[in-house]
Amino acid sequence: MKITSIEAGALYTPLHRPFKTALRTVETVQSVIVTVRTDEGVCGYGEAPPTAVITGETMESIAAAVRGCIAPALQGGDPEQLDELFARLDGCMVHNTSAKAAVDMALYDLYGKILDRPLYRLLGGRRRCIETDLTISVNPVDQMVADSLAAVAGGYRILKVKVGKEGLADVQRMQAIRQAVGPDIALRVDANQGWSAKQAVRIIRQMEDAGLDIDLVEQPVPAHDLDGMAAVTAAVSTPILADESVFSPADALEVIRRHAADLINIKLMKTGGIHGALRVCAIAETCGVECMVGCMLETKLAVSAAAHLAAAKGIVTRADLDGPGLCRIDPYEGGPVYTAGRIEMPCTPGIGITGMPTLETI
Ligand code: MG
Repeated sequence: MKITSIEAGALYTPLHRPFKTALRTVETVQSVIVTVRTDEGVCGYGEAPPTAVITGETMESIAAAVRGCIAPALQGGDPEQLDELFARLDGCMVHNTSAKAAVDMALYDLYGKILDRPLYRLLGGRRRCIETDLTISVNPVDQMVADSLAAVAGGYRILKVKVGKEGLADVQRMQAIRQAVGPDIALRVDANQGWSAKQAVRIIRQMEDAGLDIDLVEQPVPAHDLDGMAAVTAAVSTPILADESVFSPADALEVIRRHAADLINIKLMKTGGIHGALRVCAIAETCGVECMVGCMLETKLAVSAAAHLAAAKGIVTRADLDGPGLCRIDPYEGGPVYTAGRIEMPCTPGIGITGMPTLETI
């Protein structure tokens, strides 16, 4: 079997409500959908969202990277020689990790279909079900409390709350949410680089003193400030999770070596796909550092690729895979089933999506 073409199209999926972090506000999930075709008619599908403020990529740049560099590099390749294909994928251009992630997951989807196994089984896992949190956007505190209560009423047991815009007011936010949802709901905090190291220490200690029982604080300080994040990690007892600070396996090594965080958030759009994510997992396993698998604002295709990884690896102890839960519609048929916080892995081969939507030209 040979790869004959790699195509890119656009998909626009509306959200239930605007998604707001310390960095941006978004109303529609934009995706570049990649299709890898073979001479025997089997296809693999992948997805990448444009997250310019995080990876530097846009819809246009992702499509251009796929068409201009990646497709020519992979054309004619054997879809069962994954190692060879990933060497070509990483070697054909630097950066562009989301474009690479879309192609990587399409190659894994194709591989699973060729071998007739669900992806998480091919990756060595048997966990049929994983649990994800749901993200609560940055908003006035009353709305954040209402959103949190609605999520809990809908069945979510883990909430990830976006903060980082107003410093100490974030403590009051978390206090109001903890009071509303009670002690049995796990609360995570994502500052999206919004604090300085000193602010972070002050805020996290206040949360600890108030007994808010926070599961973890994600990326409290700017991505490049590893010294600052190490200082925060040393100064507080709440686990610190590195997100924007860790893209590549080399970044993961550096964060672990410098004790800059307790946990690592793996996202396929940062690692350039599952093959890069597996390298981060291997480093984390070696060093005994637990990982979360997260997503950008993605639809079920890309999130499900990440869910397969999460279901396969024991070092992944947390999942932040709420993209499909935030979308107003599911544009696909088949795939993992998302029910409130539960993700049930499919029996169908590859990522498991059985019906694709019509794509727009990009
Ligand atoms: Mg984050």
